[in-house]
Amino acid sequence: MIDALGRNIDYIRLSITDRCSLRCTYCMPAEGVQWLPHERILRYEELLRLCRIFVSLGITKFKITGGEPLVRKGVADFTRALKQIDGVQSVTLTTNGVDLKAQLPALIDAGIDGINLSLDTLDRTRFFERTRRDALPQVLQGLDAALGVPGLNLKLNCVAMAGAESDWLSLAEIAKDQNVTVRFIELMPIGMGQGSVPCTEAEVAAALEKAYGKLTPYDTPLGNGPAHYCSLPGFVGKIGFISAVSHGFCDRCNRVRLTASGYLKTCLQYETGADLSALLSEPDETIRAAVQEAIGRKPASHQFQSAAVQNGETHIMSQIGG
Ligand code: SAM
Ligand code: SF4
Repeated sequence: MIDALGRNIDYIRLSITDRCSLRCTYCMPAEGVQWLPHERILRYEELLRLCRIFVSLGITKFKITGGEPLVRKGVADFTRALKQIDGVQSVTLTTNGVDLKAQLPALIDAGIDGINLSLDTLDRTRFFERTRRDALPQVLQGLDAALGVPGLNLKLNCVAMAGAESDWLSLAEIAKDQNVTVRFIELMPIGMGQGSVPCTEAEVAAALEKAYGKLTPYDTPLGNGPAHYCSLPGFVGKIGFISAVSHGFCDRCNRVRLTASGYLKTCLQYETGADLSALLSEPDETIRAAVQEAIGRKPASHQFQSAAVQNGETHIMSQIGG
C-alpha cells in the first residue's frame, strides 16, 4: 500500500508476545514489565485473519518478533499457516537465540525464509551484563545450529554500544569464513534505550576498518529494509548497518508494526496507529479501512534527535517488537 508520502508499505513486524527470556539493559528493566494478560494477546487465528487483510493491502513481508517470539508455543505452526496465505512473499523471525536450537528444525520445516539472531557479544560475562541472564552457551548452540543449515538466510544483529569494540570485531569475524550477514544497529532512544550510551555507524565502521581493511559498499541495494551492506577484504559474509539515528531512512520507510495486543503502529517513535483488537468483531472491510486510514496518517519521520516529541512512544522496545 502506498502511503500519503508515496512510500510503499509492504512489510510488517508482528509481535506475538510481550514476554521474554532475557532482560537486555537497553530494552527491558531488570525487574521485567507487567506482562499483558493472556486474553489481551491476539490468538493465532486472529493474527492470521489480520494478516490476510494486510496481504490484501499489499503488505506481503512478515517478521515475527516479540518480546521473544520463541517463548510462545506454536510459532512453527503459525509460520506454516502464514506462509500458506496467498500473496505472502516472506516470513522471517527475529530471536534472542535462547530457544533457537530446539525450535530451528520445526521452523525450517515450516518454511521460514530467514532468521535474525540478536547477539551483542561472544563474551559470557559481557553477555550477562548486557542481558542479565547467563544464557550465552544456549545462544551459541542456536547460532551453531543455524550456521549448519545450508542456504539459511541468517543475519546476526548487534546493537552497538560504547566501549564494545572487541565485541564488534569478534562478531564481524563470524562473517569472515561463513556466509552470514553481521549487522550493527544504532541504539534508538526509545524506552530503556534512552538510558544507554549509543555508538554511531561511523565509530563501528572505523573500528572494523582498522582491524579488517576497507569496507566497500555494494553497488546495488540489498534487501528491502533500512540496512545498507558492505564487504570486507577476504570476508565471505557481509557486514550491514542499520543507522536510524545518524542516517535516518524515514523517507524510504516501508514498514508498520502490530503489537501483541493488536495495536497497529505506523511509526516506531510515535503511538499513532489503530487499535485493531477493538475491531475484531467487525467485518474484514471495517478492519481494512482502519488499516488504510492509519497508514494514511503514518508520520513523515522520527525525531530521535529532538527533545520535545508530541505523542511520543511510552512503551519499551520489548512491547513494540523492535
Ligand atoms: N527478542 C527478539 C530479539 O531480541 O531479536 C525480538 C524482539 S527485540 C525487541 C528486536 C530487536 O530490537 C533486537 O535485535 C534488539 O536488539 C533490538 N532493540 C531493542 N531495543 C533497542 C533499542 N533501544 N535500539 C535499537 N534496537 C533495539
Ligand atoms: Fe528480550 Fe529481545 Fe528485548 Fe533482549 S532485545 S530483552 S531479547 S525482547
